[in-house]
Amino acid sequence: MQTRNLINNEWIDGPRGERLAVVDPATDSAIAEVPSCGPAEVARAVDAAAGAFPAWRARPAQERSGPLRRLFELMMREEDRLARLMTLEQGKPLAEARGEIRYGASFVEWGAEEAKRVYGETIPASAASKRILVLRQPLGVVAAITPWNFPCAMITRKIAPALAAGCTVVVKPAEQTPLSALALGELCLEAGFPPGVVNIVTGEPEAIGGAIFADARVRAVSFTGSTEVGRILMRLAAPNITRLSLELGGQAPFIVFEDADLDAAVAGLVASKFRNAGQTCICANRVYVQRSVRDAVLGKLREAVAALKVGPGDEEGVAIGPLIDDDAVAKVERHIADAHERGGRIVAGGEVFRPRDGLARRFVAPTIIDGLTPDMLCAREETFGPVVPIAAFDAEEEALALANGSPFGLAAYFYTRDASRLIRVAEALEFGVVGANDGAPSSAQAPFGGVKHSGFGREGGRHSLDEYTALKYVSCGVA
Ligand code: NAP
Repeated sequence: MQTRNLINNEWIDGPRGERLAVVDPATDSAIAEVPSCGPAEVARAVDAAAGAFPAWRARPAQERSGPLRRLFELMMREEDRLARLMTLEQGKPLAEARGEIRYGASFVEWGAEEAKRVYGETIPASAASKRILVLRQPLGVVAAITPWNFPCAMITRKIAPALAAGCTVVVKPAEQTPLSALALGELCLEAGFPPGVVNIVTGEPEAIGGAIFADARVRAVSFTGSTEVGRILMRLAAPNITRLSLELGGQAPFIVFEDADLDAAVAGLVASKFRNAGQTCICANRVYVQRSVRDAVLGKLREAVAALKVGPGDEEGVAIGPLIDDDAVAKVERHIADAHERGGRIVAGGEVFRPRDGLARRFVAPTIIDGLTPDMLCAREETFGPVVPIAAFDAEEEALALANGSPFGLAAYFYTRDASRLIRVAEALEFGVVGANDGAPSSAQAPFGGVKHSGFGREGGRHSLDEYTALKYVSCGVA
């Protein structure tokens, strides 16, 4: 297991050997230590990335594509090892961890292909004596700051398009899940990226973040994480006008109309809500069901939830692993208690428990709360746990008002079999990602991202390269 940092294709330790512990969330026991780096290591990483940039950008696209393609193949070869490491440090069930490695690798595969299509344009000029060329050029050194809930995919979703575009990168992974990032670094070495093209630095976020934004050579920062930290980064970006891409928190509504296929809707809800124990930015956080089908949906949901096994992620058949830490548990408990106090009826789950001796009290039984009201915490904030609060509604306009009545705008879901309603509702939802009869909308081909307090910028598909390139037009006088 690699526990050192990657700078200029060398593995380095932190200053004075300072290290941060990595903990298995299922048992709360330490599994490794990684360097606690600071501004000096960030400067070294940016030096390396800035030094590598001219040659990397100058490579023909086909040759930039090569190491990305090899990285994709290596990730697929190492799927099982990477997935086990992820389950160990993050807690998600092994099957989900494997799915994340494949999902993460799909961005690298996409980047390997898209590297060949960073096209410019020619624009008809207004004078016969002119030609206008539009060049699409890489920004330079970019930094990627990533969260713990998708320790692999949130990194590849950023670095694959950045590298494809011709940028070089400095990655700062989450403190809780650095091992997956460093394992990816090992594969980057094996894939043949030249020294300095990919660098990975772990450590205290304020020190690393401060150093990244203070260095004017870092031309863009792509961040995935909380809205709260996103705001801090916007302030840090001001002095150097550092370009930002912010993939922030969500508060996804999930609407079931009476004309929906209810079995499909419940299956979609379970897929969306309980993945990663509810710790995903796009997971359904508040559910609105048309009154005439409310009881039917509730019945089906209770049945589906009863089949979900809770336990450590490496145990056979487990669908819901531990929450990441004690703060996460406290937040979920607060949301459940608050909903209960405000009149919500807990119809399934509600408990936090320790499945057996040797495991931490970090496991939450899948919970259904009937009687969601807009004043409840779970109607206003991300719960980030396996909790489904449900409210009934009567009319389409009411459901839309409830769904849009949030400052967040990442993902929204709805189920209907009415084709006109599908278009009408999809157009009216103020969100960057809409799952229409689809509980799992993420894919490497599509431009993922939010609006409002969920941020800006897009990851995935051809639009992702826009985050790492700048347009330059050249107006040519022709004699
Ligand atoms: P977080 O606390 O905002 O942290 C995200 C990353 O930012 C971590 O690497 C963290 O480092 C770092 N960070 C924290 N403070 C910083 C600072 N002052 N300067 C520079 N970096 C700083 O979020 P999280 O708890 O890891 O992740 C959960 C959140 O991410 C949720 O809100 C979720 O919705 C959101 N998310 C959004 C998307 C999306 O695509 N929109 C996807 C996944 C998750 P440390 O780990 O060292 O604190």
